[in-house]
Amino acid sequence: MDDQARTYPVTYTDAEWRQRLTPEQYRVMRAHGTERPGSCALLQEKRPGSFSCAGCGQPLFRSNRKFESGTGWPSFDDPLEGAVETTTDRSYGMVRTEVHCARCGSHLGHVFPDGPPPSFQRYCINGVAMDFHPD
Ligand SMILES: [Zn+2]
Repeated sequence: MDDQARTYPVTYTDAEWRQRLTPEQYRVMRAHGTERPGSCALLQEKRPGSFSCAGCGQPLFRSNRKFESGTGWPSFDDPLEGAVETTTDRSYGMVRTEVHCARCGSHLGHVFPDGPPPSFQRYCINGVAMDFHPD
């Protein structure tokens, strides 16, 4: 989980990120924070469309992969191919799989192996890390 360890296709300096993102987005996406559950309007978003990275605009998830997990965070069972990458996150005494944007490296959330079939994956994503674009 060292963002500096590799170069992403889209890169900005820390000052540029602070300018591009809201303070809450910066806290989540660049400092590996977590939004308060139930706090993001995208949790309720049910229209057909796509969810893209708030940092670089890359499409990440389609609305038909979104499901109600009851966690308070937007949840998906599958990302768009190649849109996200994962690392092992050992913070807070837990071993979790961290999810970030494959294009700009911004932290998005975590993925857990308890989602619905057929993928059985639950991508638990911070709503502030995404923009929604209706079809
Ligand atoms: Zn991105």
